Amino acid sequence: MSLPYPRELMRSLEFSAELCNRRREGLLTTAASLRDLCATWTFPGAGALSKADADATWSHLGTIEALWDQDRDAVAVMVNRIFSEAGARPHLVRHDGLDWHLHGLPAEAPIADAIVVNAAMAFIDLVRADDTARCKRCGDDRCERMFFDQSRNRSRRFCSTTCQSRTNVAAFRARHS
Ligand SMILES: [Zn+2]
Ligand SMILES: [Zn+2]
Repeated sequence: MSLPYPRELMRSLEFSAELCNRRREGLLTTAASLRDLCATWTFPGAGALSKADADATWSHLGTIEALWDQDRDAVAVMVNRIFSEAGARPHLVRHDGLDWHLHGLPAEAPIADAIVVNAAMAFIDLVRADDTARCKRCGDDRCERMFFDQSRNRSRRFCSTTCQSRTNVAAFRARHS
Protein backbone atom coordinates (compact mmCIF):
# COMPACT_ATOMS: atom_id res chain seq x y z
CA MET A 1 0.00 0.00 0.00
CA SER A 2 1.51 3.29 -1.01
CA LEU A 3 0.16 6.81 -1.14
CA PRO A 4 -1.07 8.21 -4.47
CA TYR A 5 1.77 10.71 -4.66
CA PRO A 6 4.90 10.81 -6.79
CA ARG A 7 7.96 9.60 -4.94
CA GLU A 8 9.72 12.94 -5.34
CA LEU A 9 6.86 14.72 -3.60
CA MET A 10 7.35 12.60 -0.50
CA ARG A 11 11.11 13.05 -0.73
CA SER A 12 10.64 16.82 -0.94
CA LEU A 13 8.51 16.79 2.18
CA GLU A 14 10.95 14.58 4.04
CA PHE A 15 13.85 16.78 3.00
CA SER A 16 11.95 19.89 4.15
CA ALA A 17 11.21 18.30 7.51
CA GLU A 18 14.80 17.15 7.94
CA LEU A 19 16.08 20.63 7.16
CA CYS A 20 13.85 22.28 9.79
CA ASN A 21 14.44 19.54 12.38
CA ARG A 22 18.22 19.66 12.04
CA ARG A 23 18.30 23.43 12.14
CA ARG A 24 16.20 23.47 15.32
CA GLU A 25 18.41 20.79 16.87
CA GLY A 26 21.51 22.87 16.19
CA LEU A 27 22.94 20.38 13.68
CA LEU A 28 22.69 22.79 10.77
CA THR A 29 24.64 25.97 11.36
CA THR A 30 27.17 26.35 8.56
CA ALA A 31 27.15 26.50 4.77
CA ALA A 32 29.12 23.23 4.77
CA SER A 33 26.49 21.43 6.87
CA LEU A 34 23.76 22.63 4.50
CA ARG A 35 25.83 21.55 1.49
CA ASP A 36 26.21 18.08 3.02
CA LEU A 37 22.50 17.73 3.73
CA CYS A 38 21.61 18.82 0.16
CA ALA A 39 24.11 16.28 -1.20
CA THR A 40 22.61 13.50 0.92
CA TRP A 41 19.17 14.27 -0.46
CA THR A 42 20.46 14.99 -4.02
CA PHE A 43 19.00 18.47 -3.83
CA PRO A 44 20.67 20.13 -6.83
CA GLY A 45 22.55 23.41 -7.03
CA ALA A 46 24.15 23.30 -3.59
CA GLY A 47 27.74 22.63 -4.66
CA ALA A 48 28.87 26.27 -4.45
CA LEU A 49 26.56 27.26 -1.64
CA SER A 50 27.90 30.26 0.34
CA LYS A 51 27.36 31.55 3.86
CA ALA A 52 24.94 34.15 2.44
CA ASP A 53 22.99 31.32 0.76
CA ALA A 54 22.88 29.44 4.06
CA ASP A 55 21.70 32.55 5.96
CA ALA A 56 18.99 33.14 3.34
CA THR A 57 17.94 29.50 3.72
CA TRP A 58 17.66 29.78 7.52
CA SER A 59 15.43 32.83 7.06
CA HIS A 60 13.02 30.74 4.94
CA LEU A 61 12.70 27.87 7.41
CA GLY A 62 9.99 29.65 9.40
CA THR A 63 7.92 29.71 6.21
CA ILE A 64 8.43 25.97 5.70
CA GLU A 65 7.47 25.28 9.33
CA ALA A 66 4.34 27.40 8.85
CA LEU A 67 3.40 25.37 5.75
CA TRP A 68 3.74 22.31 7.96
CA ASP A 69 1.61 23.62 10.80
CA GLN A 70 -1.12 25.63 9.11
CA ASP A 71 -4.51 24.34 7.98
CA ARG A 72 -5.27 23.66 4.35
CA ASP A 73 -6.77 27.04 3.42
CA ALA A 74 -3.86 28.94 4.95
CA VAL A 75 -1.39 26.64 3.20
CA ALA A 76 -3.01 27.36 -0.18
CA VAL A 77 -2.59 31.10 0.36
CA MET A 78 1.01 30.65 1.50
CA VAL A 79 1.94 28.45 -1.47
CA ASN A 80 0.63 31.06 -3.90
CA ARG A 81 2.54 33.81 -2.12
CA ILE A 82 5.79 31.81 -2.15
CA PHE A 83 5.46 31.16 -5.90
CA SER A 84 4.75 34.79 -6.65
CA GLU A 85 7.54 36.18 -4.45
CA ALA A 86 10.15 33.78 -5.81
CA GLY A 87 8.96 34.08 -9.42
CA ALA A 88 8.36 30.33 -9.70
CA ARG A 89 8.43 28.83 -13.20
CA PRO A 90 7.61 25.12 -13.00
CA HIS A 91 9.40 22.97 -15.56
CA LEU A 92 10.26 19.28 -15.98
CA VAL A 93 13.85 18.15 -15.50
CA ARG A 94 15.84 14.94 -15.36
CA HIS A 95 19.16 14.94 -13.48
CA ASP A 96 21.47 12.91 -11.24
CA GLY A 97 19.75 9.68 -12.17
CA LEU A 98 16.34 11.02 -11.14
CA ASP A 99 13.60 10.58 -13.73
CA TRP A 100 11.42 13.46 -14.96
CA HIS A 101 10.18 15.63 -12.12
CA LEU A 102 9.25 19.23 -11.48
CA HIS A 103 11.55 22.06 -10.52
CA GLY A 104 9.95 25.37 -9.63
CA LEU A 105 12.88 27.62 -10.49
CA PRO A 106 15.66 27.65 -13.09
CA ALA A 107 18.96 26.06 -12.05
CA GLU A 108 20.66 29.45 -11.56
CA ALA A 109 18.10 30.62 -8.96
CA PRO A 110 19.36 31.22 -5.39
CA ILE A 111 19.38 27.92 -3.49
CA ALA A 112 17.36 29.40 -0.60
CA ASP A 113 14.54 30.25 -3.02
CA ALA A 114 14.82 26.82 -4.65
CA ILE A 115 14.45 25.15 -1.24
CA VAL A 116 11.33 27.06 -0.21
CA VAL A 117 9.71 26.76 -3.68
CA ASN A 118 10.45 23.03 -3.68
CA ALA A 119 8.64 22.71 -0.34
CA ALA A 120 5.70 24.77 -1.60
CA MET A 121 5.41 22.62 -4.74
CA ALA A 122 5.13 19.49 -2.64
CA PHE A 123 2.15 21.03 -0.88
CA ILE A 124 0.21 21.54 -4.15
CA ASP A 125 -0.95 17.94 -4.28
CA LEU A 126 -1.57 17.78 -0.53
CA VAL A 127 -3.86 20.80 -0.72
CA ARG A 128 -5.70 19.41 -3.75
CA ALA A 129 -6.17 16.05 -2.06
CA ASP A 130 -7.10 17.68 1.28
CA ASP A 131 -4.23 15.77 2.83
CA THR A 132 -2.11 18.50 4.46
CA ALA A 133 -2.81 16.83 7.83
CA ARG A 134 -0.13 14.25 6.93
CA CYS A 135 2.45 16.91 7.76
CA LYS A 136 2.73 16.37 11.49
CA ARG A 137 4.87 17.01 14.54
CA CYS A 138 5.95 14.27 16.89
CA GLY A 139 3.39 13.59 19.61
CA ASP A 140 6.13 13.62 22.25
CA ASP A 141 6.10 17.15 23.73
CA ARG A 142 9.86 17.06 24.30
CA CYS A 143 10.51 16.26 20.65
CA GLU A 144 8.10 17.98 18.24
CA ARG A 145 10.13 16.92 15.21
CA MET A 146 8.34 17.41 11.90
CA PHE A 147 7.54 14.27 9.90
CA PHE A 148 5.43 13.23 6.92
CA ASP A 149 2.92 10.53 7.86
CA GLN A 150 2.84 7.92 5.08
CA SER A 151 0.55 5.52 6.92
CA ARG A 152 -2.62 4.44 5.13
CA ASN A 153 -5.05 5.94 7.66
CA ARG A 154 -2.90 8.92 8.74
CA SER A 155 -2.52 7.38 12.18
CA ARG A 156 1.20 7.84 12.83
CA ARG A 157 1.84 10.01 15.88
CA PHE A 158 5.58 9.90 16.49
CA CYS A 159 8.67 10.84 14.51
CA SER A 160 10.42 7.58 15.44
CA THR A 161 10.00 4.33 17.29
CA THR A 162 12.25 5.81 20.00
CA CYS A 163 9.73 8.56 20.75
CA GLN A 164 6.86 6.12 20.48
CA SER A 165 8.28 3.68 23.01
CA ARG A 166 9.39 6.46 25.37
CA THR A 167 5.81 7.77 25.39
CA ASN A 168 4.36 4.27 25.81
CA VAL A 169 6.63 3.60 28.76
CA ALA A 170 5.67 6.92 30.37
CA ALA A 171 1.97 6.16 29.89
CA PHE A 172 2.43 2.69 31.34
CA ARG A 173 4.23 4.08 34.39
CA ALA A 174 1.51 6.71 34.84
CA ARG A 175 -1.17 4.02 34.81
CA HIS A 176 0.68 1.78 37.24
CA SER A 177 2.12 4.27 39.72
ZN1 LIG B 1 15.49 17.67 -9.14
ZN1 LIG C 1 9.92 12.47 18.22
